[in-house]
Amino acid sequence: MSTNTSTPDLDAVVVGAGFSGLYMLRKLRDELGMKTQVYEAGDGVGGTWYWNRYPGARCDSESYIYCFSFDDDLLQEWNWSGKYPEQPEILRYLNHVADRFDLRSGIQFNTRVTAAHFNEADNLWEVETDQGDQVTARYLITAIGCISTGQIPKIPGLDSFAGDWYHTGAWPHAGVEFAGKRVAVIGTGSSGVQSIPVIARESEHLTVFQRTPQYTIPARHETVNEEFLKEVKANYDEIMQKTKHSVAGMPYEASEVSALEVSAEERLETYERLWQKGGFNFLFGSYGDISIDRRANDTAAEFIRSKIREIVQDPETAEKLLPRDHPFASKRALIDTNYFETYNRDNVDLVDIRHFPIEEITPTGLRTADGAEYEFDIIVFATGYDAMTGTFFKMDIRGRDGLELKEKWSEGPKTYLGLATVDFPNMFMITGPGSPSVLSNMPVSIEQHVEWIADFVEYQRERGIDVVDVEQQAEDDWVQHVNEIADQTMYMLADSWYLGANIPGKPRVFMPYAGGVNVYRDRCDQIAADGYEGFVMSETSEPVLAD
Ligand code: NAP
Repeated sequence: MSTNTSTPDLDAVVVGAGFSGLYMLRKLRDELGMKTQVYEAGDGVGGTWYWNRYPGARCDSESYIYCFSFDDDLLQEWNWSGKYPEQPEILRYLNHVADRFDLRSGIQFNTRVTAAHFNEADNLWEVETDQGDQVTARYLITAIGCISTGQIPKIPGLDSFAGDWYHTGAWPHAGVEFAGKRVAVIGTGSSGVQSIPVIARESEHLTVFQRTPQYTIPARHETVNEEFLKEVKANYDEIMQKTKHSVAGMPYEASEVSALEVSAEERLETYERLWQKGGFNFLFGSYGDISIDRRANDTAAEFIRSKIREIVQDPETAEKLLPRDHPFASKRALIDTNYFETYNRDNVDLVDIRHFPIEEITPTGLRTADGAEYEFDIIVFATGYDAMTGTFFKMDIRGRDGLELKEKWSEGPKTYLGLATVDFPNMFMITGPGSPSVLSNMPVSIEQHVEWIADFVEYQRERGIDVVDVEQQAEDDWVQHVNEIADQTMYMLADSWYLGANIPGKPRVFMPYAGGVNVYRDRCDQIAADGYEGFVMSETSEPVLAD
């Protein structure tokens, strides 16, 4: 099939300059020689790690695997200081990457993409920004992160609050002075669990408002072990291969033993050993059926509850902290540093708002539905994100026939592989809904997507293909597959942001792909090897010859 085309201003527009946008720029501009423009809302690179500067912000992936693997020298020259990387260090790393590969020159900062419309007359994307830019591009690539649109619950009265308030995902660059302040933290997800122990130490008094108690495993954070790092660097190739072909993008040995086929004593010994070791080993390295069998899951859940009872000295507080209404790891699995211990401090209170939600923010604090009033100088909203789709919908993205992405996804996101969606030609999503993304160590999934997209773009250019779209059947089959896999997991048994359950009115659809990074990668590779099965392609221009 032949189509009309005209020459665009740019070959590609990339939205966002976090891990995804930086690597995409390097691939398209520096390796494929394409005219590429990155637009970034912040005044620096880093994405998530640019915005999330709340106290205690740190990654749950170990530092030696939370990085790019595409450049051997980069891997060898960068030295992480801690077992888990802290936000300032990750941001320094991403700035180093930007400088090392001269990426800043391809990024326009302080610029938010507001609209992207596909013009079918010339098969180009027309992109607009809040700075008045209007450009056309052959490709639109979203590198917008999965968890980048913060949600502040619509509780009446916030405007009247006389103190200061913050969302963890839009933290002031200058930091927040907590000394001598009475502070409220609302929310006990990853951001709450990380920030609560630090805010408790810094503030005069902290009150935590908890809607759902959490299972969390000690991270056992420590400064990086030099010997270990030396060994890692000597074996990086092998380690990175292992991450790429693992379930979650982490090089841990996954257990295939069932929690139900060992004795209670053996199980307890395993859980205790992994609890002491810390981190996600507890989830991946204990028993293979924790994520798929409720009875197996219950054994881990009960172990964690026993630990909470052991750590938290006040039995009433401990009781409030016990998670009972959802299986372990059915919400995002958490690791922490002194989370439960924090409730033993004299300056910390826990308020259970499951039955008596926050009814109103008042000028001096807040009031819950049982009439209790609380006074604060600072309120911290650790209340999460309109994840996976929220940032897409903040832009006016329209495909064929003016179809709005928001309308197309009104019943939940529909994609092929989480990479593309029918009727939005030449648009690729890095870690879009329907891919492993948030269920994995993100840089591993990001690199896989960036490399797959770049290979596909190169394939198109070599053949003079100007327009690619997804076949409807391919998308339908993928959406069905994503749902079938999710139905076999514990994820369906919790009200989580994976399911959009944290946003009132959002369709309850499981958004990431739970089949594993390894299985997913093989599928994507096979599709590419089969000539990009599931995509419809139209040729118009002269092939671009490879160097
Ligand atoms: P989150 O996991 O969605 O947690 C939000 C918390 O706020 C939950 O406890 C939620 O309660 C509560 N909440 C929401 N609306 C509320 C309301 N109206 N009233 C009272 N409580 C309310 O958000 P997050 O902690 O920012 O984390 C989001 C994701 O970002 C994580 O799951 C993770 O993938 C990523 N993240 C990662 C790290 C890391 O690597 N360590 C750190 C931070 C974030 P319910 O549970 O009842 O909904």
